[in-house]
Amino acid sequence: MSRRRKQKTAALVLFSGGLDSILAVKILRAQDIDATPVCFESHFFSADKAQSAAAASGLDLRVEDISKSHLSIVKNPRHGRGAAMNPCIDCHLLMIKIAGGIMAREGFDFIATGEVLGQRPMSQHRQSLAIIDRQSGLVGKILRPLSAKLLALTEAEINGLVDRDGLYDLSGRSRRGQLALAKKFGIKNIPQPGGGCILTDAEYARRLEELMRRQPDFGGDDARLLRHGRAVWQKDLLAVIARNQAECQNLKIMARAGDWLFEPQNFPGPTVLIRSFGKKNGQGETLPDSGEIKKMGQDFVRRYSKKVPSRPDILITNH
Ligand code: SF4
Repeated sequence: MSRRRKQKTAALVLFSGGLDSILAVKILRAQDIDATPVCFESHFFSADKAQSAAAASGLDLRVEDISKSHLSIVKNPRHGRGAAMNPCIDCHLLMIKIAGGIMAREGFDFIATGEVLGQRPMSQHRQSLAIIDRQSGLVGKILRPLSAKLLALTEAEINGLVDRDGLYDLSGRSRRGQLALAKKFGIKNIPQPGGGCILTDAEYARRLEELMRRQPDFGGDDARLLRHGRAVWQKDLLAVIARNQAECQNLKIMARAGDWLFEPQNFPGPTVLIRSFGKKNGQGETLPDSGEIKKMGQDFVRRYSKKVPSRPDILITNH
């Protein structure tokens, strides 16, 4: 049923599970606005934090998978990247555009976010917020309840759907204002700031950059694989070497058609996954050839094992 028939004002709130987004929902609900939290998941971040925070606050969360479109902005960000591989402005823009589509289709009155002016170096400056509003085609339709009093009036305020007096004027990196609001709204479980997006991780960013340079057509599976183990390239072969038991299991789960798995059978050692990005030869065999791949995988298992028996038994599987 369309929300247009509902009496209450309805807002779609971008919800990361961080304190700011929880506060955005609480501030709107305090004005009796039907605030629906929505979060996004991709190859580089999950909905886990948002789901836990929503559950802790008794909120019914909507999750949208944006893996495909997000991957394409990670490869080609129009507005550059942050300190690592994080294309934050394009990412925010993408989320806002998707939220804008939901708003138009489902009859929400406006979009809200937990953004705080000047809190993040890249994406929460006045200029970046203006870019996001303009390029999403949603000028006047995005309310930022925590900083609204420092920003231009939105349509929701002009039309009396939201009372500006019940909004805030927080800015900067200090969390003092948010913590005071958390107290006011009785929020006891305060999530730690940050975390969640692996694109901000320096080591992962280095790996992803190398993948991008070597294989510009890489897919989401490849980006996900780089979250695990040690990654070593040899020509067109990517070897991922597990560092612990959990990673051994993860590599087995992540193996896809064409991948090679190497698992020591009679000694403790790492599982190794090798993915070939090489072309096929006339016989449909991937280059480098299987002999080279087998040798590479076995060498890595031996090299990263503490004690290798004189006759090592390594199970080799070509998926
Ligand atoms: S940190 Fe990651 S999830 Fe957050 S805006 Fe930047 S790219 Fe997007």
